[in-house]
Amino acid sequence: MKWTTHQAMALMTSFAAGFPIVGMAAAWFGSVVPDMLDQRAARRAFFRQKKFNQVHRRSSHWFGWWLALWAWSLTGQLGPLPDAAVGGFGFGALTHVLLDMCTTHGVPLLPFAKKRFSLKLCSTGSLGEYALLVMSVLVFWIMEKPELLRFSVPLY
Ligand SMILES: [Zn+2]
Repeated sequence: MKWTTHQAMALMTSFAAGFPIVGMAAAWFGSVVPDMLDQRAARRAFFRQKKFNQVHRRSSHWFGWWLALWAWSLTGQLGPLPDAAVGGFGFGALTHVLLDMCTTHGVPLLPFAKKRFSLKLCSTGSLGEYALLVMSVLVFWIMEKPELLRFSVPLY
């Protein structure tokens, strides 16, 4: 998925889940970190794109790291502010992995597995991705403002 989709989804879901502003900002940042890690891994290679294709959506896109980070923040060991930041970060990265799971390219179900799992709902940058984004924004909007669904047409 495109970074815009990842960031929008992370912001909407963290807001809907009641994250504090620090957690929402961390989720926004965390939502692109799995791809940033892959870009960083490929940065020094001579054939950068080839290396990127080799490392992309491997261990950085395994849900377990990010779920563990989020779960760690829920233990409350770090204190309120770091918990919000670490939790938001883990949550944001987890939304990234779940969204990439919807694309045809998929994500690994085991940390170092080459085989990827995909729900095959859309491909990155396709009309399907944007349709998914628009539908999610509508669902989020209706959840936040349920009065929009009430019609005020007088019956008399
Ligand atoms: Zn990704």
